[in-house]
Amino acid sequence: MALRNILIEGEPALYKVSREVTKFNARLHELIDDMIDTLEDANGVGLAAPQVGVLRRVVVVDTGEEILELVNPVILEQSGEQSGQEGCLSVPGKFGIVTRPNVVKLRAQDRYGDWYEVEGEGLIARGFCHELEHLDGHLYTEKVERYLTPEELQAYYDAAEEEA
Ligand code: ZN
Repeated sequence: MALRNILIEGEPALYKVSREVTKFNARLHELIDDMIDTLEDANGVGLAAPQVGVLRRVVVVDTGEEILELVNPVILEQSGEQSGQEGCLSVPGKFGIVTRPNVVKLRAQDRYGDWYEVEGEGLIARGFCHELEHLDGHLYTEKVERYLTPEELQAYYDAAEEEA
């Protein structure tokens, strides 16, 4: 298990456009494995390569059932609307309200370069949009409608603790 250091808001790498992955080699596999370890260790829903300082189009998303490895992901379709709280491992201690599509269908490559399609709803659709924006150098803080108050934040942490 190898954990990578998660960059925090303000680090230049978080605001750059990541490049396409063209080599599906051992180095990519190591990056994806490390990103999965880092995501699980941080208890996050998703992590994008630029968040660990690698400017490549790679994302991992934990759906609760499996960990999706998304290489060179592209949104094919999106529909509906949801408004809810969102956080980011690169923006610790904050949650904000963001409006997102409710269903998102993606096309992506796996670690071997094979293309596949995957559809996510609710929290997963939110995660897809959030993580793909990281690949273009954008943070959710650009589109946050408002941040949770300290009281709302406390209630959120209390609920998360009860679940754990
Ligand atoms: Zn994020």
